[in-house]
Amino acid sequence: MDFILTKEQKDIQKAAGEFAQGEFDPDVAMDLEREGQYPFEIWKRACELGFIGMHIPEEYGGQELGILDNVLVVEEFCRQNSGIGMALVLSGFGSEMILRFGSDDQREKYLPPIAKGENASSLAYLEKNQGNDFTSFKTTATRNGNGYLINGNKSLVINGSLPGPMIVVCQLADNRKPGEQVALILHKDTDGLVATEMGGRVGMRMLPMAELTISDLKVPRENLIGEEGQGQSQLMNFLNEMNIEAAAMATGIAQGAFDLALAYAKQREQFGQKIGSFEAIRDRLADMDTRIEVARLLTYKAAWSFDKNDVNPKINYMAKMVSAETALKVARDSLHIFGGYGYIVENKIEQFYRDASMVDIIGMPGEIDKSLIADQIIGRI
Ligand SMILES: Cc1cc2nc3c(=O)[nH]c(=O)nc-3n(C[C@H](O)[C@H](O)[C@H](O)COP(=O)(O)OP(=O)(O)OC[C@H]3O[C@@H](n4cnc5c(N)ncnc54)[C@H](O)[C@@H]3O)c2cc1C
Repeated sequence: MDFILTKEQKDIQKAAGEFAQGEFDPDVAMDLEREGQYPFEIWKRACELGFIGMHIPEEYGGQELGILDNVLVVEEFCRQNSGIGMALVLSGFGSEMILRFGSDDQREKYLPPIAKGENASSLAYLEKNQGNDFTSFKTTATRNGNGYLINGNKSLVINGSLPGPMIVVCQLADNRKPGEQVALILHKDTDGLVATEMGGRVGMRMLPMAELTISDLKVPRENLIGEEGQGQSQLMNFLNEMNIEAAAMATGIAQGAFDLALAYAKQREQFGQKIGSFEAIRDRLADMDTRIEVARLLTYKAAWSFDKNDVNPKINYMAKMVSAETALKVARDSLHIFGGYGYIVENKIEQFYRDASMVDIIGMPGEIDKSLIADQIIGRI
C-alpha cells in the first residue's frame, strides 16, 4: 500500500489550489452567488489550463488523467469556494455517459467542446412523480422512422440553460418492462423542448437548474447512447462514478469550512483568551479534522480503485455517504465556532453550510445510497 500522492499528483493539487486562490475572487464570488450567475470567465480559464474534463482522453480534448487526479482538483476548487467550485466541476455533468458508453463519433463530436469550455453538458433523469425508482420512467421514446419521438417531463436538471448537449433517459414506449430504457442526446435548440429555469435554491446557486417539458421531440437514432435497453444500467454506472466526484466536492467543502473555523479560533478572543484555547473548541476542531481525514481517505480509495480498473460500487457509495455527512457536520460546527458572525451572509462560512446540504441529495439521496450498500452486503433477502 502507498498512501503518498505521486509528484505529478502533488503538482496538480498545488496548481489547482493556486488557480482557485488566484481566480476565485471573494467579491466576484459573492456577486455571482447573490445573482445566481454562472462563473463563465473563470470556467473558460479553468478549461484553458486543463482543469476541466481531465479524465477525458487526449484524442477528445482532455488530459487523459485519472479520477484521482480529478478528485484533487475538485477538492481544491470546492475548498476555496464551494459555489464556484461546484459550478466548474459539474459543467460536464453526465458527459461520462458519452465517454464510457457512447460511440467514437459521439465522443468526437461532444467531448472536445466540453473539455474546452465551449459547451456544458446536462443529464435529465429525475421526474417529479417518479423519484429514485429508475427502473421505469414516464418520459417515453417512441421509435419513429430512423429515430425516436420523445414525450415527457424532467426536473432539477442542472446546466439546462447553458450551451451544450443534454442527455435524457427515457422509457421505450410500448415496452414498459424494467430495464427497457434508452439514453438519448438532445440538442437544446430542437423543437419540442421547453426548459424552464427553476427558482432560487438553498445552495449551488451559480448553476442553472431547469424543469423540462418535452413534446414530440425528434431525435435521430445516431444520438442513442449504446444500445436500446441499456439506459438504466448506463445511468446507474454514471451515478456510481459520480459518487466519487460528489465525495470530493464534500471533502473540499468540509476542508474549506474547517480552514476558516481554525483561523478564526486562533484569532478570536473571549474572556481574555483565544477561543481556540477553550477545551470545547479544541474538541470540535479535533473531531472535524478527524472526520475530514476519514472522508478524504475513502474518497481517494474510491478514486484510486476506479483508476486501477477495480471499480468498487460499495466503496463509491460509502465515500459519498461519509463525505456528505462530514461536510454537513463540519460546516455546521465551523459556523458554530464563528458564533453569531457565522450566521451573516457576507461570511463565507454560511455558503459552505448551504452547499454542504446538497451533496447528500445529488445523484441519489443518502438513504438510497445506504440501501445500495446494504444490497451488496446482504443482498435482497
Ligand atoms: C442540487 C441538485 C442537482 C441535481 N441535478 C440533477 C440533474 O442534473 N439531473 C437530474 O435528473 N436530477 C438532478 N437532481 C435530482 C436529484 O437526483 C434528486 O433530487 C434526488 O435523486 C432525490 O429525488 P427526489 O427529489 O424525487 O426525492 P424523493 O425520492 O421524493 O425523496 C424524498 C425523501 O424520501 C427518501 N426516500 C426516497 N426513496 C426512498 C427509499 N426507497 N428508501 C428510503 N428513503 C427514500 C429520500 O431519501 C428523501 O429523504 C438534482 C438535485 C439537486 C438537489
